[in-house]
Amino acid sequence: MSLDSVIQALSSVSSPLVTSHVDLDGDAVGSELGLSLLLERMGKKPVVVNQDALPCQYDFLPGRHMVRKSVEEAAGVDAGVVLDCTSLERTGSVGRFMAESRLPIINIDHHSGNVGFGTVNLIRPEACATATIILDLFRALGQSIGQDVATCLYAALVAETGSFRLSNTSAESLEACALLAREGAKPYEIAAGLFSSKSPQALRLMGDAMSSLEIHLNGTLAVLSLPHSRVEESGVGGEELEGIVNFAMSVRGVGVGVFLRELPGSVVKVSLRSNGTVDVDKVARGFGGGGHTNAAGAKIPGTLDEVKGIVVERIAQAVRDGQRHQP
Ligand code: 5GP
Repeated sequence: MSLDSVIQALSSVSSPLVTSHVDLDGDAVGSELGLSLLLERMGKKPVVVNQDALPCQYDFLPGRHMVRKSVEEAAGVDAGVVLDCTSLERTGSVGRFMAESRLPIINIDHHSGNVGFGTVNLIRPEACATATIILDLFRALGQSIGQDVATCLYAALVAETGSFRLSNTSAESLEACALLAREGAKPYEIAAGLFSSKSPQALRLMGDAMSSLEIHLNGTLAVLSLPHSRVEESGVGGEELEGIVNFAMSVRGVGVGVFLRELPGSVVKVSLRSNGTVDVDKVARGFGGGGHTNAAGAKIPGTLDEVKGIVVERIAQAVRDGQRHQP
């Protein structure tokens, strides 16, 4: 569907419930706050609720006055707006509330694997981030952007491009950032907000993750991992570990980076990054997860060692398949 259908749908609601996926990341938070500020300007009463609490590295972003802790605080909402989620299940408990309340759902996303679960769906896999689709909404509506929205969307783009290092760093993402900087986003302050907010414990834990480095497949696969016992002992929340997987990609000659974080209950959260040699979205989908060709994730049942073994094997298989299909 087009931007016009989304604009029409947004115009007809009065109090939208805006949400995104579990394990919130920068594109999710920046996009939902940026869009909610737009909706507020349109005279709506947006409420932002996520299953997970807002990670502290986003505390500096404008628009947090619209964030509520749970759906119980979202009485009177008349539509759901779901951002950056391939499926309604990705929102966790908030999506279940939307389904039970039979809310019409506006689904805005840039993942190619989006299943089109909304009443209105705006899926643009070519967009480097959900934030750039929100930016397009502002332009289509002829709305000024302003410093508050620019800050949210710029932060989303920095996060989604891995600080302009991932393969979605393009003329499009850089031009969007230049536009947002001209609108008042302060790159230095936003980088400080995003990356200078770690606790000493989180940094020590990252040190543990670095020490766990394993190299497989003749130096082309780097794996970092953290056992649950170590994370629990440190008292560090998972959100403070966002971006660790990018360190795996910083090893010379590595084409695929993996970060495995063991969760309670024998489940492992897997983050995958690729330089294009392996389609990690396909690998993640094989485990019930998803994402993008070069950045994807999944939650896989099993112990840390079991999951590590399976993931390494699947990546090895994907490399072999890729070699077989080369001309
Ligand atoms: P990350 O590794 O940073 O958690 O996620 C990388 C990308 O994969 C993001 O686009 C994220 O939304 C997606 N992703 C991560 N975990 C899952 C998952 O369990 N299911 C799906 N569908 N996507 C995921």
